Amino acid sequence: MAGEPQDDCLFCKIVAGRIPATVVRETDTTVAFRDINPQAPTHVLVIPKAHHADAATLAAEDPELAADVLRETRAVAEAEHLDSYRLVFNTGSGAGQTVFHAHAHVLGGRGLQWPPG
Ligand code: IMP
Repeated sequence: MAGEPQDDCLFCKIVAGRIPATVVRETDTTVAFRDINPQAPTHVLVIPKAHHADAATLAAEDPELAADVLRETRAVAEAEHLDSYRLVFNTGSGAGQTVFHAHAHVLGGRGLQWPPG
């Protein structure tokens, strides 16, 4: 069923506390934690606690939860004192998605180039 935890999902394990993470914020519906392989001085992932495979699926299955994730990206940026930052939702393996539990990357603290690679 949509949103149910998946046994083989890394981020579901982080939500359950079965894998450690450096959590920076948590709400009833979301968790924000530092990326293990940071690509910028601030690199935080914001995830819904419920399992949805990617951002597109999340938006279709639970738009209010998608809005919670977006609100949390803003809260992370404020907490990290970022004036400018980039949100990334890699969607699909061809776009670089490696963990199939929806997540927003919040990247900031350095100049960011456009277009991305
Ligand atoms: P994706 O490539 O957009 O799917 O992003 C997945 C992100 O998860 C990558 O930036 C990884 O560095 C990050 N990541 C993988 N495992 C962990 C972990 O255990 N803790 C925190 N971040 C992780």
